[in-house]
Amino acid sequence: MTNSPLVNLRIYSPNHSGRRNQPITKIAIHHTAGAVSAETIGNIFKPRTRRASCNYGIGNDNKIVLCVDEKNRSWCTSSSWCDNRAVTIEVANSKNGGNWPISDRVLTTLIDLVTDICKRNGIKNCTYTGGKDGVLQKHEWYSNTNCPGPYLGSKFSYIASEVNKRLRGNKSVSKSKGELYRVRKSWSDVKSQKGAFKNLDNAKRCADRFGLKVFDENGKIIYPIGKTIDQLAREVIRGGWGNGEERKRRLTQAGYDYYAVQKRVNQIIQ
Ligand SMILES: [Zn+2]
Repeated sequence: MTNSPLVNLRIYSPNHSGRRNQPITKIAIHHTAGAVSAETIGNIFKPRTRRASCNYGIGNDNKIVLCVDEKNRSWCTSSSWCDNRAVTIEVANSKNGGNWPISDRVLTTLIDLVTDICKRNGIKNCTYTGGKDGVLQKHEWYSNTNCPGPYLGSKFSYIASEVNKRLRGNKSVSKSKGELYRVRKSWSDVKSQKGAFKNLDNAKRCADRFGLKVFDENGKIIYPIGKTIDQLAREVIRGGWGNGEERKRRLTQAGYDYYAVQKRVNQIIQ
């Protein structure tokens, strides 16, 4: 059994029972009841005195922390029956109180992580039945708690359907290699991706909504129309983009391909 390759950091918790006594057939999604980073989630479960843990935590910084190896039974859901079967995930809120919201990007990361857990553990259909027989599990079914809170709790059907789309979608994507328009902050910032669309209009709508850009398969900005490599190269030569690392950073953050621009600069000034 492996851990998710999506993990950004590891802060191991001593609070677990060792090897689980059941195969992984469930995923229990919790909320942290607090707007905390992945590192903070890890540090919360580090002391033995805490007597609690999770397999994974997703911070409000959108990072994933591994606290207990997937193969081990975490102490998360107040139930030996559930925790032996479930990979447990603590998801950070975007703010405290109210309906205990989760940010959209953290929700997307959660969907990615659940999809990955399903794939690696042979869960072909990620079900949410509203009961213990489904794959997705709620803490409140096992203990007197409000976990996972009203907002995240209301998203379980959506999470299941998005995960299933991805589990099924991957097969069709590998069959038909249609061009996808990716909506990101910059091409190199893969994590900022809000979606990948076959339909350019849908990609543009998504870009407008989140203030992002649309890129083609090769990382070229399609929308909003960016400057040409030649224009950028001339601006660079005039000193408009700084030097060295600063130039690289600014061009990349603006969504441009630094290496293509630099190559053109070198050609011009030769
Ligand atoms: Zn919980």
